[in-house]
Amino acid sequence: MGQLDSGADNRDSVVFRSLRDPGLLKGKCGRCAYRDVCGGSRARAYAMTRDYLAAGPACAFMPTSRVGFVSG
Ligand code: SF4
Repeated sequence: MGQLDSGADNRDSVVFRSLRDPGLLKGKCGRCAYRDVCGGSRARAYAMTRDYLAAGPACAFMPTSRVGFVSG
């Protein structure tokens, strides 16, 4: 029972809600066309910058804008 209550608290917390919103990502992750499916490692961003919404520090991809999908 305590586990279930704790889970509900986590889902509603400010931190967990922000982690589920790719629109809050910063830096290159924030402007990356793949942010909705990737989002970068939030754990690594936090470990290296103390900001869990910062750009993924280990990603080599360099997005230039959110526009950039190639269809076909
Ligand atoms: S980690 Fe790299 S590929 Fe993933 S969202 Fe960030 S910039 Fe884009």
